[in-house]
Amino acid sequence: MPIGSAMKLDLFVNHQHVPTDAYFEVRDPGNFSEVVAMVATGTARHVDDAVTAAHAAFQVWRNVGVSERVERILAAAAALEAVSAELATTLVKEQGMLLRDTQRDVANGIKTLRETAALAEAFLQSEEFEDEGCLIRIRKVPRGVVAAIVPWNAPMSLTMAKVGPALASGNTLVVKPSPFAPLAVSQALQVVAGFFPPGAINIVHGDGEVGPALTRHPLVRKVSFTGGIKTGKAVMAAAAESVKNVGLELGGNDPAIILDDAIPADVVPHLVRGIFPRSGQVCYAVKRVYVPAALYDKFFDMLCEAVSQLRVGYGLDPRSTLAPVNNRNQFNFIKGLIERTRQSGAEVYQLGQKVDPESWENGYYLLPSVVRNVAPTAEVVVEEQFGPIIPLIPYRSEEEVLQMANGTEHGLGSSVWTRDFDRGLQFAERIEAGLSFINSHARTGLGDRHMPFGGVKQSGIGRVRTTIGLAEYIEYHAISLNKTNMSNIKKEGHQDAT
Ligand code: NAD
Repeated sequence: MPIGSAMKLDLFVNHQHVPTDAYFEVRDPGNFSEVVAMVATGTARHVDDAVTAAHAAFQVWRNVGVSERVERILAAAAALEAVSAELATTLVKEQGMLLRDTQRDVANGIKTLRETAALAEAFLQSEEFEDEGCLIRIRKVPRGVVAAIVPWNAPMSLTMAKVGPALASGNTLVVKPSPFAPLAVSQALQVVAGFFPPGAINIVHGDGEVGPALTRHPLVRKVSFTGGIKTGKAVMAAAAESVKNVGLELGGNDPAIILDDAIPADVVPHLVRGIFPRSGQVCYAVKRVYVPAALYDKFFDMLCEAVSQLRVGYGLDPRSTLAPVNNRNQFNFIKGLIERTRQSGAEVYQLGQKVDPESWENGYYLLPSVVRNVAPTAEVVVEEQFGPIIPLIPYRSEEEVLQMANGTEHGLGSSVWTRDFDRGLQFAERIEAGLSFINSHARTGLGDRHMPFGGVKQSGIGRVRTTIGLAEYIEYHAISLNKTNMSNIKKEGHQDAT
């Protein structure tokens, strides 16, 4: 299948393109008139075929040495880089985001593969302990078939963050892309699959039947899921039937807490970038802003001024600085949320500019909204919005704001904004979250490399990235060799194959 063309997309099992009886349509969220792809709808039978292929490939791949696995991952990353421009453009058309965001998503996917490769060899070594009587060897062995289920909002980097560590550790995969962004990620996965044995990477599209069939399949040993909390609970329940290892990267409702010594003019530009990346459709975007009561009006005015500059338009139009939202559910949810927030007595200011007013109705275009005079318990504050709307909540003391920040079931990211570095660090340590940033709300290159990513409470289980993320894809096999209980011993022959 050529990269970048709008066309029929089949399932991909054992290096074969597999057609199905039914195909679903993917339309451009920024231009409904364009059908970007027709995608094969998988069934439970297709899931079984894919898992069986992955299980057969596992018997081969698990015995390939780590250095060869790493070499192949690096070769796959280079091949992806060669087609990254086409992948980024395709992604805009099916997913709706700005080209600069899809370019970043593709680049991050490639970077993730390379960073996993850089860590794998040292991390996957066995550990040994020895005394007079005993040798203990702790082996890090693959789990088996991994079901990788991904959302639409950053499909390339989120998928490669599963594919890299799974393959480096000797596992094989069945990937289920989101029906709202299946094309570019499948094209990328097929490029990557060419570097691995048939069956090491399989792709099954679909929704209602495919997800549950995958998360229940007895030969799947790990489910690595990224998506919403509600779906995450269903995934965990299904996986429980056969006691699978489960990694869940779920929704967030990240607080940004402005401390009273912060200068609004310093904070606002960075905050806008933390709130509206991919039109707010980022799991760890800022989703509520807590501002000292004394700074509230000034802060609100400055934020509104900055948001007014945003230009909402088509993802490939260089004039756009904010793209449409991805799908009808999300579009209707945000519109309903604005209505419900207004009815609750809060003020919602819809700001920003329309790049192309004439095509406004031909996509899921929404102006960004800032909400003021909102109750700290309002839906727009305590639920994840996942769209271009942000509430500003005033507070009077650090204790009060900590209680509000920690008072939800979410715990993915968070940020603190202050001129006092020690105060920022001390405050950050009291936040219940997997990630806390001080004076930014984004990872840097160093953060990408060293920060394990994931959430606490209902924002998830487990971590991705770093060796902590790699560890999610292995089992520990502990072997104890007693050296004293047997007479006439053969000494050689205890080399480890891994
Ligand atoms: P979603 O939960 O609707 O879908 C995610 C994936 O699960 C899709 O591929 C979907 O088809 C599949 N799925 C649906 N029902 C299933 C079932 N019963 N069993 C198995 N799979 C099933 O989420 P979404 O709308 O695609 O993504 C948005 C959500 O993802 C937001 O809540 C966002 O915060 C979260 N997210 C989290 C992270 C993270 O790293 N924590 C990253 C990105 C997105």
